[in-house]
Amino acid sequence: MSKKFVYLFSEGNKEMRNLLGGKGANLAEMSNIDGIEVPRGFTVTTEACMDYYENGEAISDAIKDEIMQYIDKLEEITGKKFGDVNNPLLVAVRSGSRASMPGMMDTVLNLGMNDDVAKAMGEKSGNPRWSYDCYRRFIQMYSDVVMEVGKSFFEELIDEMKEAKGVKEDVELTADCLKELAEQFKAEYKNKVGEDFPSDAKTQLMGAIKAVFRSWNNARAVSYRRMYGLPGHWGTAVNVQEMVFGNLGETSGTGVAFSRDPATGEVKLYSEFLMNAQGEDVVAGIRTPRPIEELKDILPNAYDELARNLKTLEKHYRDMQDTEFTIENGKLFMLQTRNGKRTAVAALKIACDLVDEGLICDKDAVLMIDAGSLDALLHPTFEPSALKKATPIGSALGASPGAAIGRIVFTAETAKQWADKGEKVILVRLETTPEDIEGMKAAQGILTARGGKTSHAAVVSRGMGTCCVAGCTELKIDYDAKKFTIGGVDYKEGDWISLDGSAGNIYAGAMETTEAVIGGEFARIMEWADKYRTLKVRTNAETEEECKKAIEFGAEGIGLARTEHMFFGEDRIPAFREMICAETEEQRIAALNKLEPIQQKDFEEIYESMQGRPVTIRYLDPPLHEFLPTREEDIAELAKTVGKTVKDINDIITALHEFNPMMGHRGCRLSVTYPEIAIMQTRAIIKAAINVKKRHPDWDNFVPELMIPLIGEVKEFTYLKKYVIETAEALIKEAGIKLNYLVGTMIEIPRACITAEDIAKEAEFFSFGTNDLTQMTFGFSRDDAAKFLDEYYEKRIFESDPFERIDQKGVGELMKMAVDRGKAGRPDIKLGICGEHGGEPSSVEFCHTIGLSYVSCSPFRVPIARLAAAQAALHENEEARIKG
Ligand code: ADP
Ligand code: MG
Ligand code: MG
Repeated sequence: MSKKFVYLFSEGNKEMRNLLGGKGANLAEMSNIDGIEVPRGFTVTTEACMDYYENGEAISDAIKDEIMQYIDKLEEITGKKFGDVNNPLLVAVRSGSRASMPGMMDTVLNLGMNDDVAKAMGEKSGNPRWSYDCYRRFIQMYSDVVMEVGKSFFEELIDEMKEAKGVKEDVELTADCLKELAEQFKAEYKNKVGEDFPSDAKTQLMGAIKAVFRSWNNARAVSYRRMYGLPGHWGTAVNVQEMVFGNLGETSGTGVAFSRDPATGEVKLYSEFLMNAQGEDVVAGIRTPRPIEELKDILPNAYDELARNLKTLEKHYRDMQDTEFTIENGKLFMLQTRNGKRTAVAALKIACDLVDEGLICDKDAVLMIDAGSLDALLHPTFEPSALKKATPIGSALGASPGAAIGRIVFTAETAKQWADKGEKVILVRLETTPEDIEGMKAAQGILTARGGKTSHAAVVSRGMGTCCVAGCTELKIDYDAKKFTIGGVDYKEGDWISLDGSAGNIYAGAMETTEAVIGGEFARIMEWADKYRTLKVRTNAETEEECKKAIEFGAEGIGLARTEHMFFGEDRIPAFREMICAETEEQRIAALNKLEPIQQKDFEEIYESMQGRPVTIRYLDPPLHEFLPTREEDIAELAKTVGKTVKDINDIITALHEFNPMMGHRGCRLSVTYPEIAIMQTRAIIKAAINVKKRHPDWDNFVPELMIPLIGEVKEFTYLKKYVIETAEALIKEAGIKLNYLVGTMIEIPRACITAEDIAKEAEFFSFGTNDLTQMTFGFSRDDAAKFLDEYYEKRIFESDPFERIDQKGVGELMKMAVDRGKAGRPDIKLGICGEHGGEPSSVEFCHTIGLSYVSCSPFRVPIARLAAAQAALHENEEARIKG
């Protein structure tokens, strides 16, 4: 049997989302639930989309035929006919991939109309305004997806029409105006495409399906997928569904409804609607939607049914639902349902509530939370006392919670450019559109002048965990002058403002913030996560403050303490520079002797803060020139302290210059040249440990881990290990106590992965330094790659940033090799990771799968890693269960 590319809604169910896309699978599932009314239709599969791409962006004849067969079926089921003036079948053509990508791809409504159908529909219904509203919308949407000119182009024509007629709202446009708009749109189509606007319904349908397939690879969709780590080979399905009309008059309308509050998680019908409207009017922010309570008075039956449907759907899906509905002459139709996007706060509350309501178990609760989204909860909020004192300059809808401070920018491009330079920005827009997505991601917060709680800005920022205040109508934005006015005061691009996304308040200036704490539902979820995870979570930290925060967030040790960060302090950099400028070994040792007690004190502090948990300390890593001064006066100062001339110092700086410092004299190579550096650091580490051990003889797990970076050849390691052990043993013997310690290495050079068996025979642990491993494997520098990687995403060479998510195909394979070979060399070798990836959920899952025993990440990412580790373990159990 040949492959089936089209399914009636009645043939599908929610398990088929890979094939039917999320929207299609859920439309099928919903159609089969008793008591819920769904307009009928069929789904063209994601496989048909992939076939379209394999077929040189053309729909094969076989698939075309199959679609035509299903049009026949739909005509039969509905009793309507495509292109028939008396009883026309009009359809919505709706995109929908596996994962929801709101607004990223295209939808065409009212397809099947032409001049004759529009005229007949208007006459038959006695409501020509409706029929021409449908017609102009159809031409507008169809032209937009086919010509890809962007929605604003048509909005402008509508605005011109409104101005010409002296009206404010779309609904005030008469049948004649709408008819005229339809003509203008068609003319524009012909002008741009070079052909008449198609009047044949089947031609329209194939055109629209093709355009939806093509929209899978539009720039917005590609960048959205990168942001959320979705692969390009999934494709989108296309749903072809009978139209229902929310624009028939005052007993018709359309809206969106959540079964719980997506911002707080509170159990209530959270919904907005518009009467006499269609499609995206609610989301687009063109008209301001009304709160659902008003529907109670207008159409009480429809209201009750909506509330009931949401309860039914929530029970059925065992999760909070986000739905779209349309009311046609008082009758309610459900057009979509999906597990709703929510803020991190809401996610935690909903998960706990669903457990308490008996709808899910604690494992489900752990699995249903997007680990990455917790980030939003781990960052500061406004200092309550500062908040009390401050007066908002304006307030609007708190659309996505959080505290954001940043400098005002007015375009997504500027937001991105400034953020790339390390600036904190607040993106201020009339309203946002899917084109703004990159800028929204780069911004600390988003402020809009228009739109409600289900507007694009609100939905997207909640999804990203970015603070958002929406619909601030008092805000007068002047894009050209790069300023906005509120309360008679001007705020210009670059000025600081603060946003409170929970209360919806806007403040001038940068307000003081306060640290986050883990309590309540967050703590409950974390407890469940800890129950199921096997991977340990450590932190990368050097200061007492970082250690404290990390422990509070659940860190079980330090996976990376970078010693070089400790040399930058004002009290130590002079001694360090003296060491670099030393000409003889004696001079160097003299300088190192000054540093040793300082380092020792640092290490004691770290050990004490970690209260006996394991601590990995890395030996000096960066090239020496990073420590030398660059400003003239500093150079002169240094010359004076070390008793040299300015020229001498400049000569030293020149001599240390490297063409490619990332691959230069750094890491273990420094200590191979100057073993006295490794000796000094060993003394500091071990002497600190001895003191701490004496103070806390009961700390049985207290085992410092000494980590030598950048090993590529085992002999480098053995050479240095000899010095380390000699030094350590002598000190321990002298102290006369028992102290365990481990000597291991970072695995961050591809050659180390390949020769891991030999290295493991000498090293007691491996810690993957995936930042260096990634740059060395790809052969591009992480400091320079940002300049060209954007182009790689645009050209779809890369789908995600390999410095953010582990490149499993390349870097990941090397890691696996190192794990296998390492274990061959030393069966009980300890394995961990300390690169940035250690706090990124998909990378954490990968680390679990290849059998690492811990990940280490920045203190703020520790809870994320704990949750991701639990999810990895639960996924693995689930797979094992399925396999039997
Ligand atoms: P998106 O994925 O961008 O939300 P949808 O396919 O859900 O796009 O379509 C957008 C809007 O079009 C819906 O919210 C709904 O209001 C309207 N719509 C979709 N299908 C129909 C239909 N069969 N009848 C009437 N309106 C529809
Ligand atoms: Mg939708
Ligand atoms: Mg490194």
